[in-house]
Amino acid sequence: MIAAMDIQVTKTERSKLQDIDLENLPFGKYFTDHMLEAEYENGKWTNVEIKPYQPLLLEPSLAALHYGQAIFEGIKAYKDEEGNAFIFRPYDNFRRFNISAERMDMPEVPEEIFIEGMRRLIELDKKWIPAKKEHSLYIRPFMFSTDTMLGVRPSSKYKFLIILSPTGPYFPKPMNIYVEERYTRAAPGGVGFAKNAGNYGGSMLAATEAQKQGYDQVLWTDASEHKWLQEVGMMNVFFIIDHTAITPSLEEETILNGVTRNSVITILKEMDIPVEERRINIDEVIKAHKEGRLQEVFGTGTAATVAMIQKLKYRDYVMEFGEKDWTLSAEIKKKLNGIRQGKSPDTHHWMFPV
Ligand SMILES: *Cc1c(COP(=O)(O)O)cnc(C)c1O
Repeated sequence: MIAAMDIQVTKTERSKLQDIDLENLPFGKYFTDHMLEAEYENGKWTNVEIKPYQPLLLEPSLAALHYGQAIFEGIKAYKDEEGNAFIFRPYDNFRRFNISAERMDMPEVPEEIFIEGMRRLIELDKKWIPAKKEHSLYIRPFMFSTDTMLGVRPSSKYKFLIILSPTGPYFPKPMNIYVEERYTRAAPGGVGFAKNAGNYGGSMLAATEAQKQGYDQVLWTDASEHKWLQEVGMMNVFFIIDHTAITPSLEEETILNGVTRNSVITILKEMDIPVEERRINIDEVIKAHKEGRLQEVFGTGTAATVAMIQKLKYRDYVMEFGEKDWTLSAEIKKKLNGIRQGKSPDTHHWMFPV
């Protein structure tokens, strides 16, 4: 148990739940009745509050808006058939959040606020967790700098918040992807391993250009040769070659250490599929495809779980995949969703009770 923290709770007078159609939930559009807010000042966290979801009043000189110290997380909570609520691997996101904070020169958020605050917030808004199949409650913890002066230096004040959004099933269409050779998402020494807002801002144009050409997203490559594969859009990427799963390794610090990536690696190993975490370049992928050894390519992330890839293009060379190829990815997705929905045994203790 975590030491009880002084969290002040103010409940809403009127729940918005009755205004929302829980059968039709676009991702990230609706927010629950309450949110958590905490402030960092004079070297410590204070004013930890759960209160009605409401706008923030911010000064135009707010440091985060100018210099981008802003990080976030994405987590999901589920309800089982008996109505018990569980959060999927929140401690992994908690650790990663503080790794992002360290890289962005921001303060650590303690467990009593991140985990216990999240648990109490979800407990209060439990009726917002959709009970329907494939539905979940998306949890968005985030932190940003709040000094109000334009001098360039790490802020001395920060805000940490958690907001919750009920979400419907996410049935991603199989993606069309090309290998990006112009723009770079992350370079060694940079911030690619941190879940900071700027990584998303910097990737939008590449996705927009891909969409203009009839593609959904890009496969990011390294900054110097544009050959070494990193991630697909904002997801980790897996290649199945000769019945072995290969995913880019983390040691160059250009790749986000995905909780889904980690869960998929565990599930693959349990299925006796060899997993290699290592550098992989596009030439190896193309060679395997030409020799008929490239079986599947897929992305992994909290929102989609596993996203199949139907078309992968490098310059003029196009690789295509279809329903009959997506055997392993479909099986992993089913296994992972089974655990998350409480239908398969949770042998790894991934489901944290609320
Ligand atoms: C969040 C994110 C992922 C996926 O991480 P999960 O923990 O699996 O949701 C992958 N890549 C990037 C760049 C991300 O921001």
